[in-house]
Amino acid sequence: MAGRRKGRDAASRRKRAEKAVDHLASLIDGSNSSNQTLGDSAARDLLRTTKRHGVRAPAELRSKICRTCQQTLVPGRNARVRIESRVRKTTCLDCGRVIRTKLTVEGE
Ligand SMILES: [Zn+2]
Repeated sequence: MAGRRKGRDAASRRKRAEKAVDHLASLIDGSNSSNQTLGDSAARDLLRTTKRHGVRAPAELRSKICRTCQQTLVPGRNARVRIESRVRKTTCLDCGRVIRTKLTVEGE
């Protein structure tokens, strides 16, 4: 293995941030029903990481996190999901924030 680089340049910092976001995304995905505390702290970390490093959260994930409450949104628990003309509206039941996601329909 090559020596560890300090990663001082922006590009590699960004790469690491993207990796972290990836990891947090999978945590959030896997935590929905079983462990909301884990999901929430992952959501907080994710928002912090994307903000600090200027990387974007995966589009899939944006509808699963309330940026106001910094928590994961779980339909049936703290979120309501509605589909209207191919737009998914996820409403945070804690603060009322609505996250709109365009749905892409495959095979059409
Ligand atoms: Zn909220």
